[in-house]
Amino acid sequence: MNVHESEKLAGIMEKIGYSACSEVEKADLIVFNTCCIRDTAEKKILGNIGDIKHLKKGKPSLIVAVVGCMTQQEGIGESLKEKFPFINVILGTSNISELGEAVKEIESKRKKTYKNIPTDQMPDIEEDVPVYRTSGTNAWVNIMYGCNNFCTYCIVPHVRGRERSRRPDVILDEVKSLLDEGYKEITLLGQNVDSYNYEGVKFKDILEGVTKIDGKFRLRFMTSHPKDFDSEVIDIIRSCDNICNNVHLPVQSGSNRVLKLMNRKYTREKYFDIISEIREKLPECGITSDIMVGFPTETDEDFADTLDLVKKVRFSNAFTFVYSPRKGTPAAAMEQLPAAVKKQRITELVNLQNAITKELSEEYIGKVEEILVEDVNLKKAGYVMGRTESGRLVNFKGGDDLVGQFVNVKINTSKSAALWGERND
Ligand code: SAH
Ligand code: SF4
Repeated sequence: MNVHESEKLAGIMEKIGYSACSEVEKADLIVFNTCCIRDTAEKKILGNIGDIKHLKKGKPSLIVAVVGCMTQQEGIGESLKEKFPFINVILGTSNISELGEAVKEIESKRKKTYKNIPTDQMPDIEEDVPVYRTSGTNAWVNIMYGCNNFCTYCIVPHVRGRERSRRPDVILDEVKSLLDEGYKEITLLGQNVDSYNYEGVKFKDILEGVTKIDGKFRLRFMTSHPKDFDSEVIDIIRSCDNICNNVHLPVQSGSNRVLKLMNRKYTREKYFDIISEIREKLPECGITSDIMVGFPTETDEDFADTLDLVKKVRFSNAFTFVYSPRKGTPAAAMEQLPAAVKKQRITELVNLQNAITKELSEEYIGKVEEILVEDVNLKKAGYVMGRTESGRLVNFKGGDDLVGQFVNVKINTSKSAALWGERND
């Protein structure tokens, strides 16, 4: 999601005459795209902003903009301005197209601008925002913005506002033109794609619409929510060759007590039911997840339930997080766990998931998989890297002429998450 937003920011800047540069010291304009989902992300960005203070001193004409969901929190705009007076523009999340105007204004008047649209006044969806795409063969396409779920740990609905679905025809037109431009993989994005709804048009309709577009390409989507996951989506994946056998279904916790406190609105039993249905109908499907440890009041038993769920489901991979209190969310006011407990739990969870990922990787050995080549392998000359349909990273010998092509590869070895093979076509 944030990568795609950075692509939009870069697109807006390109339209007013800026181009990307690789050395920050040479930049005339620096745009920080922030994230406040966890404390670590927020601390990192504050450190990064602080790091450029000296650049501004040596080059007073440097324009500095801070954009994104961090600035959308109440009072943050003011405190950022206070802490880093050299910032020229502060802008929220959904009004990013205003960045172009703000930068032009500063260029011409050398004037400080300050803008921050509060979430309760989120404007309508901005279409026609130029995009400077950076993700090679894959193009990200938002189908919706915001979130209505209010999981008790999460800041997203507070900083990104309520759910807004994009018009189906706009989505389909964007996908068509991306495929015409040569992109080979489309990833549909939303905080909860299952609740996409535009005047009765549902997510499954979008999937069906996109998959009917001519040409060979892969279609992915994220994120699915277990409370809304629609079985029909499994049937559509099964019946459409170009929708990848890959579902990202964040579980967060394996404990019903914690899931309830998180306001996730499903139980572990319901989660297991969805997994069984996916496995039954799509045996080759890669299932990935987001899992959190250290939610307030999480007991040893609750955590044991999470480990148990991870062992039973056997995710091909998982993003694992330590709970981080976010100001203004209900969980931040609950009784917090000691850092040492959280640390011990995340280590145990990561070790377990790594072992499972490694075991599942070994199951690929000897198989021939169709790989969409994404890039050359920057760490190993003469090699390229790409993904299986299920989302596994595969490395094999080849040159940059293969980037963007579908190639059959026989898997020979596995090194934890990554697979290595040779061409087989
Ligand atoms: N909309 C998606 C995920 C959005 S955020 C969903 O509902 O699953 C991505 C992940 O960040 C979440 O799945 C969650 O695991 C993690 N996350 C969100 N808030 C967090 C917090 N306060 N502390 C730690 N992890 C958090
Ligand atoms: Fe956050 Fe929950 Fe919405 Fe995901 S569904 S963005 S975790 S509130």
